[in-house]
Amino acid sequence: MYDRKHITPIGDDGIYTLDTASWRVFRPVMNKSKCLECGICLSYCPVNAIIGNENKTYLITYTHCKGCGICAAECPHKAIDMIPEGGTK
Ligand code: SF4
Ligand code: SF4
Repeated sequence: MYDRKHITPIGDDGIYTLDTASWRVFRPVMNKSKCLECGICLSYCPVNAIIGNENKTYLITYTHCKGCGICAAECPHKAIDMIPEGGTK
């Protein structure tokens, strides 16, 4: 069964689970006043933590997000800020 909480890779040691959200030191926060809903961040996220709906509204979910910052680096409109986990925004 697909587990939304964990990534389940299969490697030399068999199946194991990774709680990738526990790696997060910085949290990506989308600034909707700058976002043009292009979806580029979704296509770059390595753990599929960014979702889009039928209205092409993109959201970051934090169950898998590991805080790598790729989405912030690739956003052409600088609409994603990386803030310290536990910080305010
Ligand atoms: S890449 Fe940037 S502008 Fe495009 S949907 Fe993501 S946050 Fe919005
Ligand atoms: S920080 Fe990394 S893992 Fe989290 S949403 Fe952005 S690209 Fe995905």
